[in-house]
Amino acid sequence: EAKSSGHGGVIVFSEALGCEARNRMALERELRDAIRDRQFVLHYQPIFSLDKSQRLRGFEALIRWNHPTRGMIDPGTFIPAAEESGLIVFIGDWVLRQGCTAMARLHERLANRYSREDLPFVSINIAPQQFLQPNFAAHVQRVLIETGVPPECLRLEVTEGVAIIDSERTRQVLEEIRAWGVRTSLDDFGTGYSSLSYLQNLPFDTLKIDRSFISSMDDPKSRKIIRAIMDLAGNLNLSVVAEGIETPEQGNALIEMGCEYGQGFHLGRPLDEASAFALIPFDEAA
Ligand code: C2E
Ligand code: MG
Ligand code: MG
Ligand code: MG
Repeated sequence: EAKSSGHGGVIVFSEALGCEARNRMALERELRDAIRDRQFVLHYQPIFSLDKSQRLRGFEALIRWNHPTRGMIDPGTFIPAAEESGLIVFIGDWVLRQGCTAMARLHERLANRYSREDLPFVSINIAPQQFLQPNFAAHVQRVLIETGVPPECLRLEVTEGVAIIDSERTRQVLEEIRAWGVRTSLDDFGTGYSSLSYLQNLPFDTLKIDRSFISSMDDPKSRKIIRAIMDLAGNLNLSVVAEGIETPEQGNALIEMGCEYGQGFHLGRPLDEASAFALIPFDEAA
């Protein structure tokens, strides 16, 4: 996967412009051009069952900016500016539509080989500002109808940031979306505040354990925290995805702990659409 030139993100822009505020304005202008000129692409990272089947269950869609002169730029470099400027709403709409369109194309190729419940899902990251748009749920429904993706094959990932802004509204939107069968994930769980009251009040289907816990798994404390999160999830009937599995040891330890799903460079990196979807076994109905 191409990186933004080895410079740490925003530095790339500030070198040219010298000053923080003008730098941010220039970045916003470039983001507007990028929306207009369709410079964004989605990569897809596979998510696997960690049971004996080791089956590929779906993909997380991850945005990249294919910049005309700087090459492929990671989201950490531009999502914060997109959020601050409000442009994330437009960019996020594009991601939702593009991810569902791609998944519908894949489903078409799988139609005779896979039963509906075995079809792969696409998991889309939704920024708080996008999620809290007044018409967000209706918009999701429109995209599902227009693309033909079955609701059970769409997952929406939000972070607790959305609940911190407005937890009652978050609950309403989650409930509305889940009523049609769309699954919802709480992303990066264990970082930030991770208030347990969010788990009590908000109807999520899945917890995604933040990769900081997986990368520090050599530390027995980290393992205990992972185990505690998994116990909690099990008791609340939530699925668990471990993010950022980078080594076979981490993968095996998580399998032993009974973790349901896994994602990480060891299992599969984010890939362009064609390469990612080629990971799906086409001939054997799973
Ligand atoms: P995230 O949703 O937690 O996505 C997982 C990130 O971890 C991705 O980084 C992925 O490439 C990376 N990752 C996966 N496995 C491994 C691993 O084994 N080791 C390491 N070191 N990293 C791994 P990426 O693609 O750079 O995305 C970063 C963040 O940007 C995402 O974190 C998400 O918060 C945000 N993002 C990405 N795409 C979108 C989008 O379409 N909309 C919004 N609102 N945010 C997005
Ligand atoms: Mg990255
Ligand atoms: Mg995510
Ligand atoms: Mg995450």
